[in-house]
Amino acid sequence: MKGHYPSRAMLAGIDLGGTQVRVALARSDGHLVASIKTKTALLATPQAMVDWAAGEIDRHRGREKVRSITIAAPGPIDIKRGVLVNPPNLPWQNVPLVAMMGRATGAKVQLANDADMAGLGEFHHGAGRGSRNMVYITWSTGVGGGLIIDGKLHRGAHGTAGEIGHMIIDPNGPLDNCGQRGCLEAFISGTALARETGHTAAELFAAAAAGDRQARLVVEQAARYMGIALISLTNALDPEIFVMGGGVSRSWALVYPTMIETLRSSPFIKPARRPRLRRARLGDRAGQVGAVEWARINQ
Ligand SMILES: [Zn+2]
Repeated sequence: MKGHYPSRAMLAGIDLGGTQVRVALARSDGHLVASIKTKTALLATPQAMVDWAAGEIDRHRGREKVRSITIAAPGPIDIKRGVLVNPPNLPWQNVPLVAMMGRATGAKVQLANDADMAGLGEFHHGAGRGSRNMVYITWSTGVGGGLIIDGKLHRGAHGTAGEIGHMIIDPNGPLDNCGQRGCLEAFISGTALARETGHTAAELFAAAAAGDRQARLVVEQAARYMGIALISLTNALDPEIFVMGGGVSRSWALVYPTMIETLRSSPFIKPARRPRLRRARLGDRAGQVGAVEWARINQ
């Protein structure tokens, strides 16, 4: 198949999660050729993670060079300096990941927000395909998002656009970890639901699915708060589609009806401009797929 692609240089996307690290390699046109993962806990230090990822990239690139790499990481991150600041799910602080990965591979490296990359993945290869304006929401232990505006990822003036979880739903609500009061996340994140009910979010959703009345009420209330956030996002951004990923999207039948009913209850958002609401399609792979796409765009 030699000579089939315009350039022989390759791309890589790395998704650095609290549970797993994933590496994907692709041709310069974005077509994936390899995908590898390992448990984050097996990589004790940032250098061990960089060495593992660089080793896997080297093993799968064949004779071709890897030109561009994107690392998707949980915020807060410093995009300009390429530094992982202090991710909530990792015991690492102020890690200059871009410089480290650049030294290990010789490639052009950039750091990006993991929810942005998952959104970009869904936009190009998942549930958002064919749209131009899309809001990606991840609803899991936290709530995050990624904005696609006019076909492009919108990162904002400081790279922090799309912090949907920190939209204030009720200024008198509970104090969030971020210091604000009444953030969406403080009401409906998996962590908040566990604190409220004394059960893990997984147990809560399992009980709701089994018909437990109290669990159903808690889940419906959470879905209503998310629906209110969808109304505000629609008014601010006028998207064609919301794509929702994260652990809670696995319980789609429990949350979708209330979310869509709440969105439809707005008299201001007429049916003609009401966005669609779809479940994400790429699952755990969204971050690495988006990271490869970002590496392609920025190569
Ligand atoms: Zn907050």
